[in-house]
Amino acid sequence: MNKFNEATPGSRVGEWAPYSYNIGTGCQNICKYCYGRDIALQFGGISDRAQWVHEKVHHSKLDISEKADGIVMFPSMHDVNDNNLIAYMTTLKNILEAGNSVLIVSKPRLNCIQSICDSSNDYKDQILFRFTIGSLNEDVCKFWEPGAPNPQARIAALKHAFDAGYQTSVSAEPMLEGYREAITLYDTLEPYVTDTIWFGKMDDIDDRVDVTNPADKAAVKYIRDFQSDANIRLLYDSLKDRSKVRWKMSLRKVVGI
Ligand code: SF4
Repeated sequence: MNKFNEATPGSRVGEWAPYSYNIGTGCQNICKYCYGRDIALQFGGISDRAQWVHEKVHHSKLDISEKADGIVMFPSMHDVNDNNLIAYMTTLKNILEAGNSVLIVSKPRLNCIQSICDSSNDYKDQILFRFTIGSLNEDVCKFWEPGAPNPQARIAALKHAFDAGYQTSVSAEPMLEGYREAITLYDTLEPYVTDTIWFGKMDDIDDRVDVTNPADKAAVKYIRDFQSDANIRLLYDSLKDRSKVRWKMSLRKVVGI
């Protein structure tokens, strides 16, 4: 029988949900900082980083009827796209029918979010969308997340879910630019968010990002400089009183909260 994964309290997933679930391996978003790829490398899901782009759906995982005692993050280590949409929606319905609340985390594709919204009206109160938007700059997103939808498309999906009456939230983790851009991001997206907007730094940047290419090396330096402790404190001081802002551990450590 399939079971949800229990998250370690305080871990990347555990900061958001006590449980997670995935039905696939691999992700065509190919984010340069992907943590899921490294976990798959470590635990045998793939044998080299280049394989991560080849998505596989594990159909045996669609059937799940467990009722968890807390919200389930689904997915946490892949995304939802045309390759897995039917499998994803089938699984989502099973999880919702069992009475669970679900945190849907995605770099969203509008058509997928429309399909999920259209087919989940009876479970609206059990769903919280969390869309990852680390920058509003199309070129910056394309550099770091070359296979993911551009930020404008993600904002369209956010607006769609908001207008359809779903609970919505945003993850700017990892932030892909500096504190000024992060403040603009908050101000731009806040009107379409019913829940929270999370900020976090790019964790374990040395392990995650391959810097053999000079452009990637320069981009890592840019992230380090613009997310210096001093700049993170400026971001915190600017947004700390906004009601929807939330800080991930990577950032709380810097400001001491
Ligand atoms: S969306 Fe998530 S799982 Fe997919 S490549 Fe990016 S970080 Fe990895």
